[in-house]
Amino acid sequence: MKNVTHWIAGAPVEGTGRTSEIFNPATGEVGGRVHLASAAEVDAAVASALAAYPAWRDSSLVKRSQVLFRFRELMYANRDELARLISAEHGKVHSDALGEVARGLEVVEFACGIPHLLKGGFSEGVSTRVDSYSIRQPLGVVAGITPFNFPAMVPMWMFPIAIACGNAFVLKPSEKDPSASLLMASLWKEAGLPDGVFNVVQGDKAAVDRLLEHPDVRAVSFVGSTPIARYVYETGTSHGKRVQALGGAKNHMLVLPDADLDLVADAAVSAGFGSAGERCMAISVVLAVDPVGDELVDKIVSRVSALTVGPGDDPASEMGPLVTEVHRDKVVSYLDLGVSEGAKLVVDGRRTQVRGGTAAEETPGFWLGPTVLDHVPAGSRVHREEIFGPVLAIVRVSSYEEGLELINGGEFGNGTAVFTNDGGAARRFQNEVEVGMIGINVPIPVPMAFYSFGGWKASLFGDTHVHGTEGVHFYTRGKVVTSRWLDPSHGGVNLGFPTNR
Ligand code: NAD
Repeated sequence: MKNVTHWIAGAPVEGTGRTSEIFNPATGEVGGRVHLASAAEVDAAVASALAAYPAWRDSSLVKRSQVLFRFRELMYANRDELARLISAEHGKVHSDALGEVARGLEVVEFACGIPHLLKGGFSEGVSTRVDSYSIRQPLGVVAGITPFNFPAMVPMWMFPIAIACGNAFVLKPSEKDPSASLLMASLWKEAGLPDGVFNVVQGDKAAVDRLLEHPDVRAVSFVGSTPIARYVYETGTSHGKRVQALGGAKNHMLVLPDADLDLVADAAVSAGFGSAGERCMAISVVLAVDPVGDELVDKIVSRVSALTVGPGDDPASEMGPLVTEVHRDKVVSYLDLGVSEGAKLVVDGRRTQVRGGTAAEETPGFWLGPTVLDHVPAGSRVHREEIFGPVLAIVRVSSYEEGLELINGGEFGNGTAVFTNDGGAARRFQNEVEVGMIGINVPIPVPMAFYSFGGWKASLFGDTHVHGTEGVHFYTRGKVVTSRWLDPSHGGVNLGFPTNR
């Protein structure tokens, strides 16, 4: 049985109180226990970060970037082990877990360029013999609170940039799949990061609440569901902290009649069922503009029927189980709900054959196969609510305008995609749609590390998106210096407001 500890001041630290079970979603068995931090344990992690901060802040940009380069190499060398840990606790297939490690490493690579990213501006002679320049400085101790669905990538959206900027970091990973955090912590140490600059507190609401109110935590990055994101944003900001809180999603794919339907069907199935739909950028609604609906649904169904569902460590599996029993049951409840709302269940994932098992609903573990609901009524709960599982809803619409209105009328604004061969239509869509990340013939438009990731509306609370230059801004504060070195001709006393002369 695994015993997943905290990581404080460069070493594993046993918890002293509550613990929670970690499951293997493919079997339903308990594989270990994770400690759940008390307020005192959070305080110990923050104290360790605070003690390490001054020296790290004062270490040179080149030194910091060298540590990041070494961390990048160690993470790359250990990517298989990291992916194995993720797959065992999350359930996603090994290749998908490797993919999330690769996307996280891109942020580390971006952060290796911190000497360039932190360059300020300099203006010589803003007034007579007066110069002005801008600098950005770290905040101090900052925290990251992350969801279960990307136990390596989402923390890596945050900590490489925060640490490169000179901050000390406390990570509170999801208690459902916490092991990746400890491997990453040990690799930071091996890379030469001073003890205390990166800490991990395992835990649940109690740990989150303490981080949100702790006076020495200056900023909090959060990624998770919308109700918790809203709570974290409101609580953190009311305690004077800078907060970016990314929430849930309901991503639509708008299919125009001129689109290549084979490309669309491939994209819809990949984006709908990859990682069992447990991605905030998954496509969960296809808006089929008349007359493409019937032909497109046939193409989607034939591809779904060919998918292989099985344990994440089986190389033949393309899709694994859901993360917990509770979550699986919640996702399954949407199947009957959809039918009661008037949708047609064209592929029922409860009946999907699981490799090494039988039908999903009879196989031990948290299984549900890929499910397709057609003719989902616009505005129904299946259409509007985040399901976060392998359920693809097809909504038939009569025009581009009707599709756009459905997307813009939704609660969320994380990702969306348009499929068309008409450049003018695509350009109009990117201009008119109220969503933060847009794909044009690309189903999962996750921005590269040098752009920033974030949605609109209930998908993000706060001003800045994560990683990229917005990440650098989030983890630093600006200063502008106006300097004059005296020369013999200085002008004497002047009580006027300083203006440019
Ligand atoms: P979650 O909101 O349940 O948990 C996220 C974090 O909050 C975890 O660390 C958890 O321990 C903590 N938490 C849970 N309940 C809490 C409470 N009552 N008070 C304080 N903290 C609490 O989310 P999840 O189920 O782990 O992840 C799935 C969700 O995350 C989905 O809604 C998905 O869309 C979203 N997500 C969004 C993005 C994005 O970029 N917008 C990325 C990944 C996941």
